[in-house]
Amino acid sequence: MPQIKENFFESILFRFESCSCDCVEDIVHVAPGEEPNRQYKLQAIPMKPLVFAYAAKKGLVRIAPNGTIEESNILGNLISLPNKPMKEMAKFIEENGFLFPIRAGGYEKFDATEVYYIINRLRLTVELMTAANEIHKDYQKIVKLTLSLLFAGDVKIKTDVMEKEYMTCHHPYMDILRTADFGVSYARKQEEFNADYYVVNDSIFGTYKLDTQEYNDIKGGYSIEPGFRDPAFRGVAALYLNLDGTPMERKITDFMFHYFHEVGMVDFSNGMNYFSVPKEENFTNKMKEVLLEIANFIVGEEINANLDGIHPVYDAEKMMPSWKVDSLLCAAYFSIFYLKPDLELYRPCDNPKCGKYFLVRTTTTKIRFCSTECCNCVTQARYRKKKREKESE
Ligand SMILES: [Zn+2]
Repeated sequence: MPQIKENFFESILFRFESCSCDCVEDIVHVAPGEEPNRQYKLQAIPMKPLVFAYAAKKGLVRIAPNGTIEESNILGNLISLPNKPMKEMAKFIEENGFLFPIRAGGYEKFDATEVYYIINRLRLTVELMTAANEIHKDYQKIVKLTLSLLFAGDVKIKTDVMEKEYMTCHHPYMDILRTADFGVSYARKQEEFNADYYVVNDSIFGTYKLDTQEYNDIKGGYSIEPGFRDPAFRGVAALYLNLDGTPMERKITDFMFHYFHEVGMVDFSNGMNYFSVPKEENFTNKMKEVLLEIANFIVGEEINANLDGIHPVYDAEKMMPSWKVDSLLCAAYFSIFYLKPDLELYRPCDNPKCGKYFLVRTTTTKIRFCSTECCNCVTQARYRKKKREKESE
């Protein structure tokens, strides 16, 4: 086991041991002129052991056998992969091992699309933590990230050596939404009889009057955006009228109802883009406050669902408590579990060729690059561009 020399490693909160992985690509040519099938395969290399450690303010790092930091920004590197070509993922896997335990002594196939999806899920979680804790908040971005995580589908993965399959976080709210009851209770029928609106006990606006005719239109498939059917909005409206859930379930419902209804409907099948220009003026401060609560709740659910592979153990030799971490993905989630986003958060590097996320103090706005190399690279490119423009004048 390597001796850790750096002083800041006195504050290691957990460590994770694994090994390098060989990642190869099989290209199968099916027919002339057609795109070949690409299949990726993995094999663990126990001869190349790896040690990772997490320390506050440093994040998750890989430690060399001589005890120095070999790679300092594992999480920031990992979550930048979905924007990069497959060869970058293969390189990452070779240097840091696979996200999950994998067998040695023979190749095992893996689905790159699923792995990208799992990494992207982690990235959305980190991005939402950042967006919700920035001093100047981009609320539209927070909405988009929150909905992306909440509505993300389940992905499962299992390698030969894993005891049970891994599944991405499943938000229980989505089960409530999918089974929303469109019916109207007896008490609600009385309301219809007495007035042309229902009174909803709303967690954002207190009491809210929902037009009975409008609810019937929504129920019947009427869409806020003509020409589009919004199954999400239809379910949300049904829950808005009828849900007797937990305070958070109510907040998620009330927020989505008012957001879709008064600010703008998003297209779930098209990257959460708006159908038409959102009505920013209807996005009230009270809604923004509730949105932040929801964002933190969703981030919490994503992290908790991924802490399954972490077990407390007692180190009898050192007489100290420690943690056993089952996989690199677990270690990555464990590292954001320890993050204090009011103090430090991950921002993407401003060098378009890099895109790595890096840890920075929340109050800092000046540091925009992950490294001095990236900063120099962008400054030089700018200088060259200016020079070219001058020369061509
Ligand atoms: Zn960079």
